[in-house]
Amino acid sequence: MALWITDECINCDVCEPECPNQAISMGDERYEIDPRRCTECVGHFDEPQCVQVCPVECIPVNPEHVETREQLRLKFQALQAGGAR
Ligand code: SF4
Ligand code: SF4
Repeated sequence: MALWITDECINCDVCEPECPNQAISMGDERYEIDPRRCTECVGHFDEPQCVQVCPVECIPVNPEHVETREQLRLKFQALQAGGAR
């Protein structure tokens, strides 16, 4: 699954530089995660780095982007190859 940021986000800027896939960016009101780029950190880390650093725990899994670990790994490989930009 990709993750997503809820409206509890306080725009603290901590998660954005931690994402190895550049999936996090500032949206209209708060930070957002691009589900095409979020691999739940599969391929880079054992745990989602944004979840590790978020002080208000507002980054749950995105129920609209349910993916298996294998799918996440394929997404990681596609990103490494330069896809989904
Ligand atoms: S889980 Fe990992 S890849 Fe997904 S947005 Fe968070 S830091 Fe980026
Ligand atoms: S770390 Fe959490 S509160 Fe801070 S900008 Fe990211 S999602 Fe928002």
